[in-house]
Parts: sequence; C-alpha cells; structure tokens
Amino acid sequence: MRRKLVAGNWKMHGSRDSVRELMEGILAGLDETGDVEIAVFPPYPYLPLVQSLAMGSGIEWGGQTLNPNPKGAFTGEVSATMLSDFDCRYVLVGHSERRAQFGENSVAVAARFEAAQAGGLVPVLCVGETLAEREAGDTEAVVGAQLDAVLQRCGVAAFNSAVIAYEPVWAIGTGRTATPEQAQQVHAAIRDKLAVLDGTIAGQIRILYGGSVKASNAADLFARDDIDGGLVGGASLDAAEFLGICRGAL
Ligand code: PEP
Repeated sequence: MRRKLVAGNWKMHGSRDSVRELMEGILAGLDETGDVEIAVFPPYPYLPLVQSLAMGSGIEWGGQTLNPNPKGAFTGEVSATMLSDFDCRYVLVGHSERRAQFGENSVAVAARFEAAQAGGLVPVLCVGETLAEREAGDTEAVVGAQLDAVLQRCGVAAFNSAVIAYEPVWAIGTGRTATPEQAQQVHAAIRDKLAVLDGTIAGQIRILYGGSVKASNAADLFARDDIDGGLVGGASLDAAEFLGICRGAL
C-alpha cells in the first residue's frame, strides 16, 4: 500500500510573514489530513523558518533544486548536504521550470538526482511533456526518455528511495488540468516501464500528479490506481486550499 503524498512547491513566493502564516494555517488543519504525507518546498531562505515551525509535526520539507557538486566555487548554488543540514527530506529535481529556464537537460537532472541521494535526500523527479509533444503523440516517449536518463546514470535500484512527479508542462500554472484519465494513462506507463526492470520497485514507488491541482479536482485525480498524490504549485500558497487538496488524498 503506497502512502499518499501531497507536496507544495512554493516556487519563488513568500516572505517571512507569509511563510509563517501559511505554515501555521497548514499546521492548524493537520488533524483533518489523516495518514496523508505532506511536504512543502519553500525558497531556500525560508528553510530554517519552515524547519522550526514544522519540526515534530509530521510535515516534511525540501529544496526546490540543488547543485550536483558536493561543494566548491559555484556562486549562488546549494548542495545536497546543505539541504540535509536543515533536515530536508526531499528535493525537487528536473522541475519543468528548471529544465526550460535554467538549462537543466536530462543529463543534468540525472546528476542532481544522484547527488540528492548521495547527500541523504529523497529526490522528487519531475517529468512531463509540452503541449506540442502531447499533440504530436509523443508523451510517453518524452517521459520515457526523461526517466531513461536517470535509469542509465543511477540504475533502477535508485528508485527504491525516490518519488516521481508527472507534470505535463501544459498544465503547470495554466489552470488547465490533465483529466484523471490522461494522468492515469501516463502514470501507468511510468510504472509499467519500471516494472520491466524491477516489479517490486515499480509497485512501491509513489508517482504524483502535478499541474493545476486544486481542492475541487484533487480527489478525482488521486482516486486513480496509479496516482499517489500531487505536486501542487499555485494552490499550495493558500493553507485552506492546500489542506483541501490534502483531504482529497484521504
Ligand atoms: C508545479 O509548479 O509543480 C505545479 C504543478 O504548479 P501548478 O500547481 O501551479 O500548476
């Protein structure tokens, strides 16, 4: 039985006051979220604040990206061990905004996935196709190639301690959600691909859906066999909405 996970990607939003308010709002509604695992991904500067507020609550937290090197002359970058220093459990790797705006190709993403695990973190590997790729009928090939890059570098065993997030690029921040059927089809394809290599890992890995998830559509998405929760952007900045999404995973 896979435990559902709902993760909030705050992107570059927030202030000291708003982060405190958001965390306090989420903490206040935790008792209605049952066994659903909750994780938040604040901007780096707010990690210590989130750590101090969430410690002991069961909420996990993580970084939105990392540099693949353990240390060195990489101005502006943050390593896996630095994130671990603030008790991060997770780190996002390969979010489509990183791929599109910061030149992180699949090889770079695989290096980050490897570095995350080497530094004691659980990578949340984001994969997904653009609208043009979907319309060309290439969704599974694109997502498959994104997975292959990590499989080639790290091997299937690395997926023992990882999460996958299927995030169609056309659904991120657009208000346009994949239908539960569209999402389920890709999630099943991801699981089938891993099952060819290792049935146990394929059966236990959590595959989240991301792309305009809201409280109003979460339950329908999360009810599908291979959708194990969500990676939520915009709607994770509102405690009541985010808690509604978490309850959709019950
Ligand atoms: C995301 O950024 O990972 C995301 C899914 O964003 P949104 O929920 O806003 O579409």
